[in-house]
Amino acid sequence: MEEKTIQIAGSITVDELATALGLSVTELIGTLFKNGIVATINQRLDYETASIIIEELGIKDVKLERKNTSTKTSDFHRELSDKAVTRPPVVAVMGHVDHGKTTLLDTLLNKKTVEGEAGGITQHISAYQLEHDDRLITFLDTPGHEAFAAIRQHGAMLTDIVIIVVAADDGVKPQTIEAINFAKSANAKIIVAINKIDREGADIPRTMADLSNNGLQPEEWGGDIIMVPISAKMNQNLDKLLDMVLLTADIEELKADVDIPAEGLVIESHMEVGKGSVVNLLVTGGELKTGEYIVAGSAYGKVRTMLDWQGKPRGKATPSTPVTITGFKELPNFGDRFIEVKDEKTARKMALLNAQAAADESASANVTSSDLLRMMNVADNSKVFNVIIKGDVLGSVTSVVDSLKMIDTHGEITLNIVSTGVGDINENDVYMAADENTIIYGFNVSVPINISKMAARDGVKIRTYKVIYELLDDAKSEMENLLDAEIVEEDKGEIKVLGVFRTEKTSIIAGGEVLKGDVKPGYLVRVVRDKKYLGEAEVTSVQKEKIDVKELIAGETGGLAMKTKSRIDLQINDRLKFFTREAKKRTL
Ligand code: GDP
Repeated sequence: MEEKTIQIAGSITVDELATALGLSVTELIGTLFKNGIVATINQRLDYETASIIIEELGIKDVKLERKNTSTKTSDFHRELSDKAVTRPPVVAVMGHVDHGKTTLLDTLLNKKTVEGEAGGITQHISAYQLEHDDRLITFLDTPGHEAFAAIRQHGAMLTDIVIIVVAADDGVKPQTIEAINFAKSANAKIIVAINKIDREGADIPRTMADLSNNGLQPEEWGGDIIMVPISAKMNQNLDKLLDMVLLTADIEELKADVDIPAEGLVIESHMEVGKGSVVNLLVTGGELKTGEYIVAGSAYGKVRTMLDWQGKPRGKATPSTPVTITGFKELPNFGDRFIEVKDEKTARKMALLNAQAAADESASANVTSSDLLRMMNVADNSKVFNVIIKGDVLGSVTSVVDSLKMIDTHGEITLNIVSTGVGDINENDVYMAADENTIIYGFNVSVPINISKMAARDGVKIRTYKVIYELLDDAKSEMENLLDAEIVEEDKGEIKVLGVFRTEKTSIIAGGEVLKGDVKPGYLVRVVRDKKYLGEAEVTSVQKEKIDVKELIAGETGGLAMKTKSRIDLQINDRLKFFTREAKKRTL
């Protein structure tokens, strides 16, 4: 059977997908509906939704493909040519707080860099390179787990090796496990540094046992994880650790092509007075040179200056090299992939296409990420209401069942009648109810004392009623508990941005005039430019004439600080629309 490929650039309309699949639009809308998506013919579906639906339809001979309109990281992994050359490994150091990550990096930096140079770095750097045995190793700073989540989210598995630092006197802790999971999900090789072996309480075998209980089997015990006992503070065995990093790199045969257009990842970006955008990149392929044009998401520019991690100018960067460049016309996002293009015109065009694709995606995501997730939850067990019905006579059982079925749950909750029967509640009912989260309803029946004891022991709920409406009310309120809370948003006010004082990865400081309503700390914000939605933020503080105030009201001008989940490149004249969002319990 020949496979057919459907390309999806950002999103696809219901109409287009139906045509591509050779289905009628009604049929497709019906399937969407069954999956909880109420769609119209022009509705846009994103890639994930389309894949789910195709699977749901049981269509096997169609392959979905993301079309490359963007320089997103989803198309990051490329096939290597036979001309690919060895590149330095990219290493992240992770582990539980206080287990010694910073100390390890500091000691390594002091040891491996020429005196004085490392000390000269004041600015936050996100990656550095060390030399060991005349070979380079690239270290990524691990600025907290959030950033890693972002990297993971962008699918950029650029970490080749994760060094997990575990203190020998403390063992495996929650963030150790997080680090293990991160490394596994990133497909990175793991090396464990058992740290603080100079300490009195250090117990290497116990730490190894602890690690092996958490899925990391030491090589010494026949497993496949290299574990190196070290003291980061006393500089003990660090050479061995670096040897193991290089050994792992050799085994992995880490390579990259250099005769392709340069590409890589944005690992940090911020604005600096006098310099404009200052962007840290990690080159993953090709060679990036000053004067070249690059695109990252909707941002583009010409590499004006290039510095290495120690702040020294350099003309080009090869794979696995972190560099700091200037020249982007606007700030690219952390985690975006960048690529080199041949000229400014191409760069501009591509950035524009990426911006459109992103807008498309967010438009479709508005429909899917919330709706689909909420709707898909119908199939989730938490949205199934399991009951067992017992009654004194068959007639009462039937009328309880029929009445329960009449409760309108707007399709959000499935009533699952596990069993029905005539007679008192018995052992069997309790057994059956204990399996799932099931409530036993008895109508005009009794519960023998041993049965109610047994139910109490097993955490099974038994409710008996003599009036059917009371039984139904109880069932209804139980179902309401299963409903997702209703998200209620209320508009509060609007500001016209008159000045942008700082935009960082997760914070913005700006000033403006309140056009209507009011602005208070805690309000949420939609950032809008020419009716286009740019992102969401939250007000953290409000100022009038540089003094913190409780609110700004219509007609006033003032400043405000906001926090954001991802960078929003705020500009003068943008509108900030304030609102509140509350989760309310819903009723049936
Ligand atoms: P991080 O939170 O993982 O970055 O941990 P730090 O590097 O900040 O280390 C936490 C504490 O442990 C600091 O007081 C360090 O001096 C200490 N420490 C780190 N490594 C060692 C070591 O090898 N031996 C001893 N004795 N102390 C260490």
